[in-house]
Amino acid sequence: MKSHGRLTIRASAQPRDLMAEPQVMGAWTANIVTLFPEAFPGVLGLSLTGRALAEGLWNLRTIPLREHGIGRHRNVDDTPAGGGAGMVIRPDVMAAALDQADSGLPVIYLSPRGTPFTQARARVLAHGPGMTLICGRFEGVDQRVLDARRIEEISVGDYVLTGGELAAQVLIDATVRLIPRVLGNQASLAEESFSEGLLEHPQFTKPAEWEGRAIPDVLLSGNHAAIASWRADQAERLTKERRPDLWRAYVERMDPTKDRQLSGASDQSRDHRET
Ligand code: SAM
Repeated sequence: MKSHGRLTIRASAQPRDLMAEPQVMGAWTANIVTLFPEAFPGVLGLSLTGRALAEGLWNLRTIPLREHGIGRHRNVDDTPAGGGAGMVIRPDVMAAALDQADSGLPVIYLSPRGTPFTQARARVLAHGPGMTLICGRFEGVDQRVLDARRIEEISVGDYVLTGGELAAQVLIDATVRLIPRVLGNQASLAEESFSEGLLEHPQFTKPAEWEGRAIPDVLLSGNHAAIASWRADQAERLTKERRPDLWRAYVERMDPTKDRQLSGASDQSRDHRET
């Protein structure tokens, strides 16, 4: 088992160095059962999440599945019962790794068959003590260990990855940035996509004109109420156009008359932009 995280950071520290230090007691913890512990911390060792790991705001431990493999070759998998292509991770090997992780944390198997991961779920996980993540490989994990340990399955999208390591990093990244003090400016959490059930408005920065394209006048007006209103309108328009599922859920949470009001607001805003 390898721990990640430290209380001091050197300018020369490499992402993998973050794994060499003792854990910080009581901090939010991610345990990762994986055949590829060298894939961690990966991008989690960079930027905000890396700094927070170095500062002990969260812990990362890898549990190498191979160490629990069977026989001289440390086999972790075998052919699928019933035939077919590929290999399946053995339940006894996975159970031994989970026993080692045994931390009382909720256990999640990253799987394309799982419940889709959402910002709301990341928020709930960030308020908990952490999680143990199982990264599958090959054709996945023997169903019996998932059933016996009542393991929840979570998907990061409707596509198939080669293994669960990238998916685990997605779950951890989305969750860790919501832990208090990890993100310097907590206000940005309140305004980003999904915070209010909407996608975020478009963003602009200098120069004021680029390749003949100007920043919308309202954003340079200094009128904070007008800027807030423009941004809200854009967020509604984008959500409506790109994510009708999110838009429906948003409207349902609002007053029933809001649907008409919002449609009107968006149309007016589009008219305004086109003139
Ligand atoms: N045979 C599996 C199926 O069809 O559902 C796919 C196995 S995939 C090649 C190997 C591993 O990658 C899975 O066990 C899982 O851990 C991970 N994985 C692949 N796609 C994923 C997704 N969309 N979300 C989360 N994990 C995924």
